Amino acid sequence: MKYRVEIKPSGHRYELPAGETVLAGAIEASINLPYGCKNGACGACKGKIIAGQVDYGEYQASTLTEEEKQNGYALFCSAKPLSDLVIECREVSELGSVRPKIVPVRLQTKEKLNHDVMAIYLKLPSHEKLHFMAGQYIEFITKDGLRRAFSLANPPHQDEFLELHIRHVDGGKFTDYVFNQMPEKTILRIEGPLGSFFYREGSQKPIIFLAAGTGFAPIKGIIEHLIFKGIDLPMTLYWGVKSLEDFYLLNLPKAWANMHPNFKFIPVLSEPKSTDGWTGRTGNVHQALLEDMSDFSKVDVYACGAPAMVQAAFNSLHERGLPPEAFFSDAFTYAKPAPNVAK
Ligand SMILES: Cc1cc2nc3c(=O)[nH]c(=O)nc-3n(C[C@H](O)[C@H](O)[C@H](O)COP(=O)(O)OP(=O)(O)OC[C@H]3O[C@@H](n4cnc5c(N)ncnc54)[C@H](O)[C@@H]3O)c2cc1C
Repeated sequence: MKYRVEIKPSGHRYELPAGETVLAGAIEASINLPYGCKNGACGACKGKIIAGQVDYGEYQASTLTEEEKQNGYALFCSAKPLSDLVIECREVSELGSVRPKIVPVRLQTKEKLNHDVMAIYLKLPSHEKLHFMAGQYIEFITKDGLRRAFSLANPPHQDEFLELHIRHVDGGKFTDYVFNQMPEKTILRIEGPLGSFFYREGSQKPIIFLAAGTGFAPIKGIIEHLIFKGIDLPMTLYWGVKSLEDFYLLNLPKAWANMHPNFKFIPVLSEPKSTDGWTGRTGNVHQALLEDMSDFSKVDVYACGAPAMVQAAFNSLHERGLPPEAFFSDAFTYAKPAPNVAK
């Protein structure tokens, strides 16, 4: 049994089997709907059902409210058609025909960047190449069916290795494995590139980057891509962590600021320790931005990190004039447990 989906305003159409999500069918049909976590937690794939019925699937209640459902909204990563559908959403035309694929990778090296962040470098087989946009992510697929998402920290022009910044999550099955076992040369399976967090070319607006913790990873990839391309729009990076020990690669954004007059770096600590001797900005990272600017109607914002930061940033910047289509984000949600796999 198949259902037909028509997308407004593009008029694109595709078919998908019963039981498949609207997003999975679109990916299969090479149609680029926006998405982030793919598990109903980040809201990046939210769109409107103009006609037809869906099973809304599993999602986090805070991501899709009852009121939004009443108004016709659904999360396309979770919603499964129960009839033919007409949906409305903005497609991500920049992704073109690049499709995610599943490939094996070999762990080349791991390097501890601070007390709880590890950089890992992955090598693809010599005949494989991953065509990705700076800022996208990959998913590890483990033997017992776990999928874990991590952002690519390298820009596409430096693709000898895929670079990831992995924060150790207390009690986290995969990150525990990365930190405490996973020897070099381990072969892993990944799927990628995924997601719609990447730089949108063509806009001439100043860019603000908001990173929380390892949300710095994809933003590093994007900034390195922009520097490589010689794009000299005004850019400001706000990077927030709890205390000084949580920063890593701090010399990198400092070097970008020294070398590029159009680039400004503002590090922010939310809970500096007395021993940190911190004289810089404090508080939540998006609050630091709000203190510095009142009107966001003429900037593009790229935000990445904890879901609470991404959501709070969107709400407060939107209130101060940021159009929704000028806000690009990846929320680092936790993965959904795989069926029959205990967390
Ligand atoms: C698009 C995307 C990109 C990402 N990129 C990065 C990245 O570049 N770097 C990075 O460090 N992380 C990134 N993440 C986050 C990363 O995927 C998760 O931290 C991942 O789930 C960790 O896997 P794990 O198996 O170690 O921990 P998990 O098993 O997923 O969870 C570990 C612990 O968290 C608890 N937990 C699970 N769910 C929740 C919840 N909803 N609320 C509170 N606690 C919970 C569990 O009980 C457990 O104790 C990204 C996430 C997404 C969606």
